[in-house]
Amino acid sequence: MDRLFENAATHRGVSGTRGWVVAPLHGLNDPAAPQGRYILVAHDLTPADTAALDLDRVAGFCTASGGPTSHTVQVAHGLGIPAVVAAGTTVLELPAGTVCALDGDAGLLHAGLYGPDLQKAIAREDAMAERARVRREAAQAAGPAPGGVVLSTTFVKPAQAAELTRSAAAGIGLLATELLFLGREHEITDEDAHYRAYLDLARAVRGAEITVRTLDIGGDKPVPALNLPKEDNSFLGVRGIRLALRRPDTLLIPQLRALYRAAADGARLRIMFPMVTTVEEFTQAAAVAEKICRELAAPRIPLGVMVEVPACALAVDRFVEDVDFLSVGTNDLTQYLLAASRTNPALARDIDPLHVAVNRTVAHVADTAGPAGVPVSACGGLAASPVGAAVLASLGVNSLTVTLPAIPAVHEALSRLDDDSRQSIRHEALTTGGTRHLTEHVTTLLGL
Ligand code: PEP
Ligand code: MG
Repeated sequence: MDRLFENAATHRGVSGTRGWVVAPLHGLNDPAAPQGRYILVAHDLTPADTAALDLDRVAGFCTASGGPTSHTVQVAHGLGIPAVVAAGTTVLELPAGTVCALDGDAGLLHAGLYGPDLQKAIAREDAMAERARVRREAAQAAGPAPGGVVLSTTFVKPAQAAELTRSAAAGIGLLATELLFLGREHEITDEDAHYRAYLDLARAVRGAEITVRTLDIGGDKPVPALNLPKEDNSFLGVRGIRLALRRPDTLLIPQLRALYRAAADGARLRIMFPMVTTVEEFTQAAAVAEKICRELAAPRIPLGVMVEVPACALAVDRFVEDVDFLSVGTNDLTQYLLAASRTNPALARDIDPLHVAVNRTVAHVADTAGPAGVPVSACGGLAASPVGAAVLASLGVNSLTVTLPAIPAVHEALSRLDDDSRQSIRHEALTTGGTRHLTEHVTTLLGL
């Protein structure tokens, strides 16, 4: 690799959120951190830490630990804050105030910039900001559905809603409801708090459709207020729908009641259940939902499942008769197919969401659901990269849920897809696969 800078030391991590920022480096709660923008360095950040970052000051972050598909990175994606993870503990030894360039695309931290190096880094930041502006305008001008693929967004805070209505997104494709309660987890079982959150958001996005994922607690999202027993391997434990069905009175019923009340008051919603393994889990949850719908005389809400457990993906033919829609969660699907934890930094480089096995599984889901008339979306981090989006669309996924900041670049990639390129990408994805190979193939083919 050519050296980009004369004097800066490059620390290699893994790409978390794309983007390039130049700023001094400081630790969490460093009293010397400037009032202006800085790059945060930390051993790791929880999803709650990340959601609470002051974005007027924290321009990006680099963690020694973590993984590229962790929930921390999902939150960073949603906030549009560049991030490098799994960079190793040497980044923790850099003196506070070291001027750095954080390269979220390549997963690098260039530390110790001055003189011509610094000028070069700032020029790149300016050029990337300009490119992002041009893309954003092109995406807004081109309308919502390039190449027949519907775009929607993930994790929109009410404050970002105005931006959503100006973007090419049709609505919110993944509202991760547990993230709405970060920092005030004691409200997570409170029906009225849920109801207010959904109605406020529905109003803020001016009636656009919101796909609400029921609480996905467990894994790397513990909720201390619930006093859940500690599990040896929480990603394989009582997570998502498994927990909701075990605690219907505190988790499932209050949330579903809040959703149907919001729908009765005009919110346009779909409900999807996370971490579903068996059809019985879905039918059990759907029966609770439908009972509440009748009791409240509320409008019917489409019900679907996230396809993120391999058993669900392989037996998807058993689901298509019952569900209204499916949404592939590529983060967990990849973790479970590759048997590689999302949060283990030692495996951060091995987690390949474009592994041929993942691609074949996505294609199987789309090929089974399509003829049954069940729409399939994808809502993991993969969809937010232009290459990932092009691959998912070529494998037959009908809609992609991406973060707001990622929409322009994804829109551009999708608008370059035609029947021939789709076929070629599909072929490569299902035969060779792999991020490195597909990145080369897709970027050359689409001129990205
Ligand atoms: C996923 O698993 O791909 C997903 C979208 O859900 P989460 O990252 O919140 O587990
Ligand atoms: Mg998931």
